[in-house]
Amino acid sequence: MIAIAAQSGRGLTSRSGCYNKPRVLQRFIVILALAWFAALGSGALEYLHNAEHAREDAAIEAAAQTAGTPHGHEPVHDDSNCPVHLQLHIPLIVVGCIMLLARLGLLIALLALVAAALLPRGVPVRIDCRGPPAR
Ligand SMILES: [Zn+2]
Repeated sequence: MIAIAAQSGRGLTSRSGCYNKPRVLQRFIVILALAWFAALGSGALEYLHNAEHAREDAAIEAAAQTAGTPHGHEPVHDDSNCPVHLQLHIPLIVVGCIMLLARLGLLIALLALVAAALLPRGVPVRIDCRGPPAR
């Protein structure tokens, strides 16, 4: 199987044994995208980002206590003051755009059905550009 794939050029390695770079690159991009969506969907990225905020806040609080000016309030990190939070919470696909595209697709499918119904279905008895059928 591997020999067949290598001979047809579809395997990971070519005949010379070098890596087939476009195939490896395509698989790397797919694996990277899957890992990104898994991390984003499971909330791992947000958890890591919140942990980073907590570490920064603790460092600021510790610096303020050593300076003798304790920080009075807990800082709030949300979509309004953190661009990373905003990017983590923004929807990947705008729903309104998808609904518009679906409706346009339905309209095109309906028009295609109407156009197919208007096409003549009769078989011509004689074609003028050709002579009589050969015998
Ligand atoms: Zn943030």
